Amino acid sequence: MKAREMVSMKKYIMSLDQGTTSSRAILFTYQGEIASKAQREYPQIFPKEGWVEHDPMSIWATQIGVATEALQKIGGNWDEVAGIGITNQRETTVVWNRETGTPIHNAIVWQCRRTAEYCEQLKKEGYEDLIKDKTGLLLDPYFSATKIRYILDNVEGARELAQKGELCFGTVDSWLIYQLTGKKVHATDVSNASRTMLFNIHTMQWDDELLKIFDIPKAMLPKVLPSSCIYGYTDEKILGASLPIGGVAGDQQSSLFGQCCFEAGDLKNTYGTGAFLLMNTGDKPTLTGNGLITTVAWQIGDKVSYALEGSVFACGSALQWLRDGLKILDSAADSEYYAAKVKDSGGVMVVPAFQGLGAPWWDPYARGMIIGLTRATTKNHIIRATLESLAYQTADVVELMERSAHIKVKGLKVDGGASANNFLMSFQSDILGVPIERPSCIETTALGAAYLCGLAVGVYASFDEIKAQHKTERLFEPSKDQAWREGQVSVWRRAVERTLGWKEP
Ligand code: ADP
Repeated sequence: MKAREMVSMKKYIMSLDQGTTSSRAILFTYQGEIASKAQREYPQIFPKEGWVEHDPMSIWATQIGVATEALQKIGGNWDEVAGIGITNQRETTVVWNRETGTPIHNAIVWQCRRTAEYCEQLKKEGYEDLIKDKTGLLLDPYFSATKIRYILDNVEGARELAQKGELCFGTVDSWLIYQLTGKKVHATDVSNASRTMLFNIHTMQWDDELLKIFDIPKAMLPKVLPSSCIYGYTDEKILGASLPIGGVAGDQQSSLFGQCCFEAGDLKNTYGTGAFLLMNTGDKPTLTGNGLITTVAWQIGDKVSYALEGSVFACGSALQWLRDGLKILDSAADSEYYAAKVKDSGGVMVVPAFQGLGAPWWDPYARGMIIGLTRATTKNHIIRATLESLAYQTADVVELMERSAHIKVKGLKVDGGASANNFLMSFQSDILGVPIERPSCIETTALGAAYLCGLAVGVYASFDEIKAQHKTERLFEPSKDQAWREGQVSVWRRAVERTLGWKEP
């Protein structure tokens, strides 16, 4: 039977979304609608200040648990599932015994800063530019390489075992693939590989020079595969069925795919606690010197797509501050109601630089500020100005991306908790001067992995087929002209300048 006929006898694609605080599983229909979902939190381990670990067995146990639960909730059967897609917290590092599948150390989570000193030492030794040129990444503890090195240095006998090929390294996708396939497949996809700091994004291979710098044996690395292909089949003894694993991507890249940002210049922003912006830059990596990260978006067949990535530290967290710190809101969602009570922010600007400022300012010493207060200022103005600050910060990153990639964006796709705020979305559209599309399914991260799997197993024949069934919930069109935009942005920039360098080093 042809792949297309086989999948026509089924109904769903299962997406496993392994996040930093919980494991989730979503069953999508072929039309991209959610048929069922299940979610379980698992413990965060903080051995010291700034250190974060996960138990890889809790990750695996919760992930397999929610997969079964999501299916059971609708009385489904594995026969109805065409395949599995995996998306995951990125950079988090697991090292396990190849034979037994047992981890030799807890997973070191992307947030963990334990290798900060080692990164400083590498900077002093002058490796920053080389690493940036080869991997597109900043030399920072965030990425996997220094975490692997830490495990090899701190678990007795680990390096010797790794050299003999008896240990496996993997990001969380690899860890799940290994377990799901009954220890048969040790692989990762290009998007996850590009976050390890060991992967050359030009040659699309593990880089021998980087492996030497970090002293990591190649024998422990997973095979790197395209983001949409058959990785292997789930072991019947584990899931009770043999299903193809057909799509794998890191969470942000998966969300870019789930938003159908298939063309160069397509851009998405996830408005969560912080904001994550990714812009598809096409088939060549755009290297910048301005703090944006260059990353592999995905590979389909032999075609590689790249992206630029930037983030805003304080996004939804600014609303949490209004709610929990200033106590002028009962819920983040109420901000929309108060913002609409005034016709503008009354000249008030809020710069939520609680933890310093990222791109394009890069100032760890900046601190937050409310400026432009008069006797006419009310809490509504402050709430409105706080929402507006999310849009200004986003616009700053977008402008930097446009300049770096020499691409003018034509629109923005949005998701994440604060994208539900209609005032914020309208204002964002006005400030950027482009339309904003909010999709019907805001589970774009999980959806991306489902789409990638659907392409591999024959549910979808092309990007166009995916786009054809992708639904927009609401479109926000800009209603202001360029002169207004420039005026607003110049006031914002004047405000930001006043926050820079505030905290004494
Ligand atoms: P994360 O994945 O980072 O936990 P979410 O995507 O779940 O974040 O979004 C949660 C954030 O969105 C919170 O910081 C919250 O303050 C903010 N948020 C949620 N709903 C709204 C809303 N309607 N308007 C503005 N902000 C919101």
